[in-house]
Amino acid sequence: MAENTEASKSLPERVKDKVEGLVAEAKPKKEKPPKQPKAPKEPKPPQAKAPKPAKSEPAAPLDPEAMFKEGWLAAVRKERAADESVVTRFPPEPNGYLHIGHSKAIAINFGFAKFWGGKCNLRYDDTNPEAEEEVYFTAIEDIVRWLGFDPAAITYSSDCFDRLYELAEKLITLDGAYVCHCTDEQLKDQRGGTDVKNKHERYACPHRDRPIEESLTEFRAMRDGKYKPREAFLRMKQDLTDGNPQMWDLVAYRILEKPHHRTGDKWRIYPTYDFTHSLCDSFEGITHSLCTTEFILSRVSYEWLNNKVDVPHKPMQREYGRLNVTGTVLSKRKIKKLVDDKIVDGWDDPRLYTLVALRRRGIPPGAILSFVNELGVTTAKINIQIVRFEQSVRKYLEQTVPRLMVVLDPVPVILDDLPDDHYEEFENAFGPKDVDMGSHKLPFTKTVYIERDDFREVDSKDFFRMAPGKPVGLLKVPYPIIATSFKKDETTGLVTEIHAKFDKPAEGEKVKKPKAYIQWVAKSPEHNSPIPVEARVFGPLFKSDNPDAVEPNFLADLRDDSLKVYPDAVAEVGLKEVRERAPWPEEAGETKTKAGFESVRFQAMRTGYFCLDKDTETGGKIVLNRIVALKEDTGKAA
Ligand code: ATP
Ligand code: MG
Repeated sequence: MAENTEASKSLPERVKDKVEGLVAEAKPKKEKPPKQPKAPKEPKPPQAKAPKPAKSEPAAPLDPEAMFKEGWLAAVRKERAADESVVTRFPPEPNGYLHIGHSKAIAINFGFAKFWGGKCNLRYDDTNPEAEEEVYFTAIEDIVRWLGFDPAAITYSSDCFDRLYELAEKLITLDGAYVCHCTDEQLKDQRGGTDVKNKHERYACPHRDRPIEESLTEFRAMRDGKYKPREAFLRMKQDLTDGNPQMWDLVAYRILEKPHHRTGDKWRIYPTYDFTHSLCDSFEGITHSLCTTEFILSRVSYEWLNNKVDVPHKPMQREYGRLNVTGTVLSKRKIKKLVDDKIVDGWDDPRLYTLVALRRRGIPPGAILSFVNELGVTTAKINIQIVRFEQSVRKYLEQTVPRLMVVLDPVPVILDDLPDDHYEEFENAFGPKDVDMGSHKLPFTKTVYIERDDFREVDSKDFFRMAPGKPVGLLKVPYPIIATSFKKDETTGLVTEIHAKFDKPAEGEKVKKPKAYIQWVAKSPEHNSPIPVEARVFGPLFKSDNPDAVEPNFLADLRDDSLKVYPDAVAEVGLKEVRERAPWPEEAGETKTKAGFESVRFQAMRTGYFCLDKDTETGGKIVLNRIVALKEDTGKAA
């Protein structure tokens, strides 16, 4: 909020921390740490094939509508008449990009309405002209649609400014509001003071009992420019004897000398959240106003206002626990700092947890919804570790995207047994064993590229891949190969070329199974192989689990290895077909006509799940983003 004073700050914000302590139900349950898959082992003979992605919890697939059918949301539905059509709203303040936490609010509001055959509006809660910008409006709508939801209507709190104003006058006439001229300090003092050592009884504002007519005149004067910001407020006349601070005469209107992006210079007074939300909910016919638990105390003022002005339709506010992800920062101010200081590449840098970043990184919208569904909805606030989120995404991708071979840091292997012009093709299935995604042809020639770290100059007992004298399998190739010699660059010390021969069985004998199979991409310019790509591999942006707590600030917690770029990576020819057949998977928010580069997703068989980055040029340079590793990250970028 731009205005950070006691009077204008919404009370929910002021009592947020307190509430979390007060509400027993809302107490965060301890998250069980996710099961740590065992450290990646070298594949063992004889079944050794391409290493499989880590298996997630073996539980049967969860009903994608579980969160609506049981638990908190099911109970909330039962609180209203079964024949009443459900109407909800998702009410973001258009003052920043949405983050992963908001996906829970979107899934709940849009999903709940959809599940019950009702409607959900996208409502821009645009009552603070100081913080709003046009780009946020567009970005928010885009993300909601990308997650697969179509708002029944797009509404703006500001469209109701006239109606709200009329109700404010009505409230004054009903002796339910008065104009107050107190300072922030006086306001605090009336509420019992903030100094713990000097707490005293609450007392009424001296303007509280001014005549109704006088408040009405003064309110109109506020509207017409008689006062400067902070010189006058409209306050609701609630109940000072109530133990709930949300009943202590909340501010309903304040003066802001800022033009509004929709109403321009028409208004100098703007309604607060506390005055706006319940009334707009009522205007829109909302049945279930679902919000997060820091608004629990506001439920009373929400109902108080709707009852006092006696709106014909009465919505019901209910509160669920926020979703927080640890090991990153979600605050707009902090992300803005990272963007402005060019520490990250914009609000959609794939290392961030804004929804635009998750989208660019290649996380499918369905994986985000499935993650929220897995967590379930309760009143408990949940803190989730990044690894747990990634585990859920991995599980989702495992069954929904094709497989390809991509070598990040290639070294050529020359198969001396083959003639220079040798060419053959192997059939390679796109899908894992149990999923049919068709197959494609894999060129195989005298020179194949393998991953640099699949080769060791000196063999050792615990190493099962390629080393001089040791047979190793090339995935899909019938015979193992054995390295015979290699060349190195004098200055860099890096291996530049490996020579190898086939390990073929003698007449009448069987092929000996190698201890491991590695991936490869053949060199065959006539068949457009390999496809050159740049691959970007992302690791955690921060060192600790709680960057917000690091001294002197979160910037001291940044890692310097969170992005690793492989500029000379190579992909096999199957990438072309995978690109043509995208989106993988096809979903409501990502249909063939709507999908961007990020929907070209696949598993690179040994190196992780990838997608095309937006920096890819149509018909030109290809840039890949690693969505997630095949197994839980060890914390290193690669
Ligand atoms: P932030 O301060 O993180 O931007 P906010 O509450 O100010 O959050 P809004 O734009 O007002 O953000 O949020 C729109 C809706 O999303 C609200 O109903 C809010 O309760 C909900 N929401 C925001 N953050 C979360 C979260 N972490 N988990 C679940 N719901 C959230
Ligand atoms: Mg907000």
